[in-house]
Amino acid sequence: MTGSSPYLLNDRNAARYRRDVLAGVDRVASRLSTQDRPFTGITADRLAPEVAAIDLERPLGDPAAALDELERVYLRDAVYFHHPRYLAHLNCPVVIPALLGEAVLSAVNSSLDTWDQSAGGTLIERRLIDWTAERIGLGPAADGVFTSGGTQSNLQAMLLARDETCRLMEKDGLPRADILPRLCVLASECAHFSVVKAAALLGLGEDAVIAVPSDADRRMRDDALARELGRCRRRGLVPMAVVATAGTTDFGSIDPLPQIAEVCQRTGVWLHVDAAYGCGLLVSRRRHLLAGIERADSVTVDYHKSFFQPVSSSAVLVRDRATLRHVTYHADYLNPARSTAERIPNQVDKSIQTTRRFDALKLWLTLRIMGPDAVGELFDAVVDRAEEAWHLLDADPRFEVVSRPQLSTLVFRYVPGESVAPGLIDRANLHARAALSASGEAVIAGTVVDGRHHLKFTLLNPDTSVSDVADVLDLVAGHARDYLGGSLAQAS
Ligand SMILES: *Cc1c(COP(=O)(O)O)cnc(C)c1O
Repeated sequence: MTGSSPYLLNDRNAARYRRDVLAGVDRVASRLSTQDRPFTGITADRLAPEVAAIDLERPLGDPAAALDELERVYLRDAVYFHHPRYLAHLNCPVVIPALLGEAVLSAVNSSLDTWDQSAGGTLIERRLIDWTAERIGLGPAADGVFTSGGTQSNLQAMLLARDETCRLMEKDGLPRADILPRLCVLASECAHFSVVKAAALLGLGEDAVIAVPSDADRRMRDDALARELGRCRRRGLVPMAVVATAGTTDFGSIDPLPQIAEVCQRTGVWLHVDAAYGCGLLVSRRRHLLAGIERADSVTVDYHKSFFQPVSSSAVLVRDRATLRHVTYHADYLNPARSTAERIPNQVDKSIQTTRRFDALKLWLTLRIMGPDAVGELFDAVVDRAEEAWHLLDADPRFEVVSRPQLSTLVFRYVPGESVAPGLIDRANLHARAALSASGEAVIAGTVVDGRHHLKFTLLNPDTSVSDVADVLDLVAGHARDYLGGSLAQAS
């Protein structure tokens, strides 16, 4: 045994590295050119036996054979977000400069926890955090860190809000054990479920999140917020954070940030802005829609949603870097306390992760190759498209549309011309979505609004045209019609 392997990436195996990785790139590139629909419609029941039949104890030894196999169990039936008729969730087509970043970062494999594992990577991440904080307008004391996604960013923000609230109250002599059970969070009823999850993970209980009513456009009502805050205080609760959403997942609605910031300032409550979806506005000609975000204490951004970055690429930003101390722990082997005195920039001091990918490199190369305006133009294009699609839906008697989009989601429902029981309309809409996915011709989402099943488009692909949207609407109406035709025939 020499101990050397032809598979380890090192100076001797650079040729294999180049060849094998390019073979993978080549497969994906050929797949793209033949992909005429976003999905094949495969079911888990049909695909699972193929995956189960593979013997993991018997390697193929050959990248080409492994890629052939991968075609069968993954590439052929994957859901392709770059396809103009993928309209379902907040998944974007990705920009090529970011894929270049992905290839570099996973090969060099820096870990961003400490300077001694990343060097320049640490500085690049810091520059991007500063750049983002500046775009938001958080001021000179701002800081933050890249995270795995909006869920983690929201969790970290809630952790900081909790511990900052406790710290301030402990100064007044209250023991932490007395404070914790009284803590609550206020978020609109349209906020992302990760806020409730964060409260649960932080030991506050799911009930600690109080849902603030929103208006007809699905934006948090600031008068309702002020009223709920008053109610909390009267009940002896301690509001530790208000979560405003800049781009709700279902509706793309943006809570009235200036008014909410005003209420938070008046009452001294931490303001967290969840801009996981709306962060693309930071580089768009619609930047004004985020007015007020600069008053936040913490902000969530998901570059992997509206900056066209591959998963994962996200960050949590804070107005006051001192608040990050609540996630600072020292380990002798990694980031001893003296490293702070020596001013060694260890990002682990600001993160709830330890080993952490250099995801920032994707955004870095995106900005260095395309620039922020080009990213903003992509996001503006999908918001423009959503506006056009809304006009289409609004004028179409086959559909009811819930609200006019501020970003790029459309929530609507097929309604037949004749009068039909609402439950049956629900089932027709559910059927239409499932039938569409089974055909693979388009992939769309669904949600429940006021107790009724609705359909949802999330537009994040600038290549999706209005005629794509019109075609998908025809397909939806066709499937719903067929279903109702069948059910009504059966009933009579
Ligand atoms: C998507 C989303 C999240 C969760 O982000 P992940 O990156 O999926 O973890 C949080 N908040 C909002 C508003 C979102 O749209």
